[in-house]
Amino acid sequence: MMDGSPVRRGLRRLQRLALGRRARTFNEDELRCPAMVFAPHPDDETLGCGGAILQKRRAGAAVRIVLLTDGASSHAHLISRDELKAQRAQEALGAAKVLGVEEADVFLLGFPDGALDSNREAAVARVEDLLRRHRPEHLFVPYARGEHADHVSTNHLVHEAVARVGRPVTVFEYAVWAWRHWPMVGFGRTRRQQRSVLAGTVSTRLGLRILKDFRTKVSLRGVVEQKRAALALHASQMERRDAEPRWHTLHDVDGGEFLPCFFEEEELYRRIDIAAR
Ligand SMILES: [Zn+2]
Repeated sequence: MMDGSPVRRGLRRLQRLALGRRARTFNEDELRCPAMVFAPHPDDETLGCGGAILQKRRAGAAVRIVLLTDGASSHAHLISRDELKAQRAQEALGAAKVLGVEEADVFLLGFPDGALDSNREAAVARVEDLLRRHRPEHLFVPYARGEHADHVSTNHLVHEAVARVGRPVTVFEYAVWAWRHWPMVGFGRTRRQQRSVLAGTVSTRLGLRILKDFRTKVSLRGVVEQKRAALALHASQMERRDAEPRWHTLHDVDGGEFLPCFFEEEELYRRIDIAAR
């Protein structure tokens, strides 16, 4: 039987080895820098930066988490948006706690899931206010290629707010959906999956852009179990509710090939240093 997955596992392994070899690890001073993590949806903070948040908190850095949207669209065909919104807010606070971030340092901006771009002006204003009040030196935002629309919007609007504030910061971009590109994952069976993987493949140029851009890393050594525990608290995304077969979870994405991308030896980031204006 032709099964592509051992081949793809091998390719992902090679991609990670190449990335890991070239990437530089955060040093102790960098781990101590105060940070603000911007997540388009609850769970992106854990998937993309859970290790960095844990390592920074261990080093004594202040870390704040900003959730841009309410995440209410993930299963809107199965439960009401209000119920899902409330559940995802609780899940996010629980996961943040496991990552070492108290409730007072989690900001739920509550913009509607899937519609961040149409709320762009209001979102930039909220982010600008948070940057001025808390003065983080490290910002974590989603990568702008191969990502869902709210992820790209988050990237753009944080950069816009940074430009308005005019203070020097270092931005670390993290990949979530951008890991999902051919040949690292298959094209899937449904039209929708195929379109999504194809879009990621084109915009990351078969992942070559990731190899070029992601040159900074944080080790998951000693924190990976806590990262898993934090992700498990995003139960709406991790467990099939009431055994409902249509309730999709992150385990289902790409036949289970997606989730392991976030539990490799290290998290990788694209680093962008922004000078004062
Ligand atoms: Zn997301």
